[in-house]
Parts: sequence; C-alpha cells; structure tokens
Amino acid sequence: MKKIIILIALLMMTGCTAPTAETPEEPPVVEAPVDVHPEEQETDTDKSNEEDKDLTEEDIIASIDMSLNPNELGEIMILMYHGVGPEESVWQRTPDNFRKDLEYMYQNGYRMISLNDYAKGEIKTEAGFTPIILTFDDGRQNNFNFIEVNGEMVLDPDCAVGIMEEFKNKYPDFNVTASFFLGTNPFGQKEYAQEKLDWIIDNGYDLGNHTYSHNEMSKLNSDEIQIEIGSVNNIIKQYLPDYVVETLALPHGSNPKDEFIESMLKGEYEGNKYETIAVLDVGWRPSYSPFDTLTNFNSLYRVTASEINVDNCGIYDYFKSYEDNIRERFISDGNPDVVTIPKRHSEYLNMDIVEDRLVNVYE
Ligand SMILES: [Zn+2]
Repeated sequence: MKKIIILIALLMMTGCTAPTAETPEEPPVVEAPVDVHPEEQETDTDKSNEEDKDLTEEDIIASIDMSLNPNELGEIMILMYHGVGPEESVWQRTPDNFRKDLEYMYQNGYRMISLNDYAKGEIKTEAGFTPIILTFDDGRQNNFNFIEVNGEMVLDPDCAVGIMEEFKNKYPDFNVTASFFLGTNPFGQKEYAQEKLDWIIDNGYDLGNHTYSHNEMSKLNSDEIQIEIGSVNNIIKQYLPDYVVETLALPHGSNPKDEFIESMLKGEYEGNKYETIAVLDVGWRPSYSPFDTLTNFNSLYRVTASEINVDNCGIYDYFKSYEDNIRERFISDGNPDVVTIPKRHSEYLNMDIVEDRLVNVYE
C-alpha cells in the first residue's frame, strides 16, 4: 500500500500534541510541504514510489472530492448476524431477508470493510460511500454449509457465505467480506472443517474468536479468560497455522471485570500467544468512526441484524435514521491515508489512531 506520511499539526483544533512518528517498516516517500514546520516532517530516502514523489499536502487535499461531503467521523455499523436459515428470529435471518439486507446496503451507498481494517483505521472505501462491517457469531453450519448435488458436495447457495458469494459476483465493487466468530466447532460438518477454513481465508473473509465455552466473561478470572480465548485460537491454528486471530466477539456481550481486561487483550495458552485488537459487544447501536475518541476497541458496539423484537435498535431502524439525517454516517473521502472531517467534529479526532495520516478539516 502506498504510504504517504505527512505530519501536520492539528494543535489549534484538537489541543492534541503532534503525532509521534514511528518508523514504518518500509520508509515512506515524502516531499516536504512548504508550510509544515521542519521538525514535523519525516525525512525519507526511499524514492522508489515515483507516483507519490511530487505530491504535496495541498495536492493530496485538492484530490479529495469535497462535493461528496466526506465525513470520516461519522458512524459505522458493525452488523451482528448469527444464523441464516428458514425460520426468521432475532438470532436468524431467512435467506430472502439476508438478500434484502445486502441489496439495501448496496443500493444505499454502503460498501463492506473488514473488522480488522476498521480496528487499524485502514478505511479503503471508495469516495462517497459508507463502510459497513458484517459479523456472524457462533460459527453455525448455516453460515457456511456444503450440500450434496448430483453426488458432489457444493456450497449451499442459501447459507450466509453462499448468499454473500452471490452478491460478490453480482456487485464486484461491493467489496464483500465478513468476520466469522468461532467456538469449538467451526461451521459444523467436521469432515470439511479444513476445506472450509482454507476457503474462508482464501476468499477474503476473516475469522474471530467467540471463546471455548461461550461463558460470560464477567464471571471469569485471568487464567480462565486465557483458556477461553487461547484454546479457540489453538483450534483454528490446527487448521490454519499461519492465520493470526485478532478479534473477539464477547458471548452474551459480557465484558470481563476491569482487572482482567488485559488478559482478554493479551495472553498465552499452551505456548501460543494472542493479541486482540477489536472486541465486540452484543448489538444495540452503531459504532463510532475508528478515528473517534469515543471508540473503545475493547468494547465495540454492534447493531442487531434483525427486524423483530429489537426496540427500535434493529438494522432498518438505523438505516432509516441515516436516510432521514437523524444520525450521521461515515462518508469516505476515498483516500485511506487522509482523514477528512467536518470542523464541528474535530474535537473528537483521536490522533493515536490517525497516526501519520493526513488530516483534512473543512468548515
Ligand atoms: Zn454466541
């Protein structure tokens, strides 16, 4: 990925100190913008990226299409799905309703991003569109099912993955992806577990942790938490030795006691270490932008992807509130290295997540 490292002081707007520049793995290419103080610039020797060589801060800002009203401190919905099956319930969408959801998202300017990218502030969404994140808890068979057709095992076109693949083909710019939060039995059909997990990773989806026993974290101590998380990671590791699980969906939305949060974020079990960069609650409202100081990556909000018994907190309640401009959704500026925000929100900008990205504030 192109890295344009330009440090600008947002001191006047945020009261934050200037971001500290960590040395990136690949040295970035920077042409010094004329109006940036010399001590705030990264010098750089790698001139391999000719394309960016002559871009100044002004060039980059000027390339943002402001007519699309970018707002990178708007809300992002992390949708909480469980099953996709014949009976509609709070915890299950029918195949037709799941298709309806996806069609709505596509037609109304939503484009999918991965939870992992959200947690890293890497928003690659096309300019003018709103990122949206799909998550599935419990690793149910109806998330990813094989069925027999003419003696051959094929992807069930009505399971969650089957429907998402349908939309991937229908709308290539939808950027179809999702995170599946697994327990001990990934997607049922144990004889196909290896095939399924390989396929998931090869086809642009992600895996997360939903703990071993599905117990409430609030009742567990540090050792128990490490067993709960570590043992599921180790199960996934048996199938995918190189895959790193970085995300966790809390069973029942139950957060650990404050003194044990560290064990949830970092731990070790049977010689394997883990680090968690995003932890999901059970849904009831949209998340904030990753660049928002209100975002707590240890306890991220989700929206229940249901239309029944959700007390005005279901998926279409929020879709409608964005349509009616009651809430503000994240609108991408199209450049992952720039964070474009309206000035009225600038006090909420979290420079720890913005890091070395260029900030573009407008009135
Ligand atoms: Zn669950």
